[in-house]
Amino acid sequence: MIHKNNDCIFCKIISGERPCKKVYEDEYTLVTMDKAGDADGHMLVMPKKHVNNIMDTDIESLNQMMATVKRCPIIAWTTADTKELT
Ligand SMILES: [Zn+2]
Repeated sequence: MIHKNNDCIFCKIISGERPCKKVYEDEYTLVTMDKAGDADGHMLVMPKKHVNNIMDTDIESLNQMMATVKRCPIIAWTTADTKELT
């Protein structure tokens, strides 16, 4: 992880301090199934670099997340237990 905030739940998930249902990971991003389970196939794509919000996110991190978002259908079809995406 490039940057970490010890008070951030996403940083804790990325570092393994908090459990998650990880379905994909690369150098820059992590994808988990939504723990709330409100919608089948709802995935969370998070940058490994800590950011406060989208306005705080640099273009490189946004591009890396969008590349991962584009992979989500393949991730769902090959690793997740759902065929529906949200
Ligand atoms: Zn964070």
